[in-house]
Amino acid sequence: MHSIASHWLNFIDGQWADSEQHLSINNPGTTEPVATIAQASVADAERALQAARRCADSAELTRCRPAQRVTWLLEIAAQIRAVVEDGAWVLCQENGKSLADARDEFIEAARYFEYYAGMADKIEGKSIPLGNGYMDFTVYDPMGVSLQIVPWNFPVSICARSLAPALAAGNAVVIKSPELSPLGLCVLMQAIERVGLPRGAVNLICGRGREVGAYLAGHRDVDQIVFTGSVGTGQSILRSAAEHAIPSVMELGGKSAALVFPDVDREQLLASVKSGIFFNAGQVCSAMSRLLVHRSIYDEVVTAVANMANGLQVGLGQDNPDLTPVISAGQLQGIEAMCQRAQQEGAVVASGGEAIHGLNGHYMAATVLRDVTPQMEIAQAEVFGPVLAVIPFDTEEDAIAIANGTEFGLVAGVFTQDLNRALRFARRLRAGQVFINEWYAGGIETPFGGVGLSGFGREKGQEALYSYVRTKNLAVRITGE
Ligand code: NAD
Repeated sequence: MHSIASHWLNFIDGQWADSEQHLSINNPGTTEPVATIAQASVADAERALQAARRCADSAELTRCRPAQRVTWLLEIAAQIRAVVEDGAWVLCQENGKSLADARDEFIEAARYFEYYAGMADKIEGKSIPLGNGYMDFTVYDPMGVSLQIVPWNFPVSICARSLAPALAAGNAVVIKSPELSPLGLCVLMQAIERVGLPRGAVNLICGRGREVGAYLAGHRDVDQIVFTGSVGTGQSILRSAAEHAIPSVMELGGKSAALVFPDVDREQLLASVKSGIFFNAGQVCSAMSRLLVHRSIYDEVVTAVANMANGLQVGLGQDNPDLTPVISAGQLQGIEAMCQRAQQEGAVVASGGEAIHGLNGHYMAATVLRDVTPQMEIAQAEVFGPVLAVIPFDTEEDAIAIANGTEFGLVAGVFTQDLNRALRFARRLRAGQVFINEWYAGGIETPFGGVGLSGFGREKGQEALYSYVRTKNLAVRITGE
């Protein structure tokens, strides 16, 4: 058992700073208070932004040899690895997620810094032949100040996913942490602080999204916005960003479908459904929230998945159960209400369907809904909870039409032993990433991002680095040639 500091601060211009107001953070598994944190005001946000602005304008992160940034990123990774246990405990308590998953988040965060450290000295431009008398080449400049707005479901790994490439490319950063789960990010920041980056290179503030998040998103001193969160918030940020034409990366929600064919490996499928929709209590943007099953095996699959769901062990994150609480009472009510509306529309509960009563925390039963039709709300809207909608299909064309028939397009999956069929589908699925025979196959090395309302721009992989730079072309007239 680790102890947790009772009060946490923001990190602005190289210093930890309190604010006049505080936010209370509660454990979703018990509803008991974990700690308080400084609630950044607009004035605090402005100070953080100006610190980043000064750092970006000083070019301290770019006038050094690129090898210096490699060293910084590797040192950050090492410092994160040194706080995995302490950080995981804090994250598990404030967020409700399992301790093992919280540990994985910190390890993944370290991996992002190691991965992008390897690219920090390889951001190479092109030389473009223009014939005699000219020399032309491109260089990649950092954006300048990168504003990164982070959600609560994987705060530490999502933050590292954007922060590591931003620093590798030489940007200064302001991170707006999520008000429901900000403490793990303070542990991450403590690790980063030990490395001694130039002052103002990384600033971390926790404040209300609608207040400080919105203020920063419309600020002309921001050079780039990286937003991960809900569609509605993303749209509002885009409207603000339009004011100063601030380029943005939008990682939004999903309603991702797995397509299941009769030749599927049953064991592989069940393992994928378990992690696909019940990992992190289904609070995953790329959750497998729709299971599209060929009608010939529909009843068989529904029964197997419902049995698996009924057998899941529910409990406190620190005990590493199969199913953890959802983040808040509001989230739980919203999930339950969607399940009720689904039943009113004709869906049938095969398992779960309601909150688990008798526990103090915010627990939703692992839910499998059958007889779902493609137009029902439960088949169209993101639930962000442990709720699987199972939909039958007859032909390949039906399957594609249903899978592609929402406004989202984050990930998708195909489960079949027929590789030709899998690849045929993979090409036609409207999604940024397609998993074949294992949900969440892929990693920090593989580009990730959406289509449609799931957003635009890519994170992860080598490709993501180029979201954090601008191309500049230098065209030179050589005389005497
Ligand atoms: P959210 O949109 O409510 O909040 C995300 C962040 O935005 C928070 O830090 C919040 O304080 C801030 N915010 C809120 N209103 C704002 C405003 N008007 N201006 C600026 N910032 C504002 O999302 P959430 O509930 O924290 O996260 C869940 C959502 O995130 C889901 O829809 C999920 O699918 C999505 N998500 C997407 C990805 C991805 O990579 N595509 C990853 C994780 C979560």
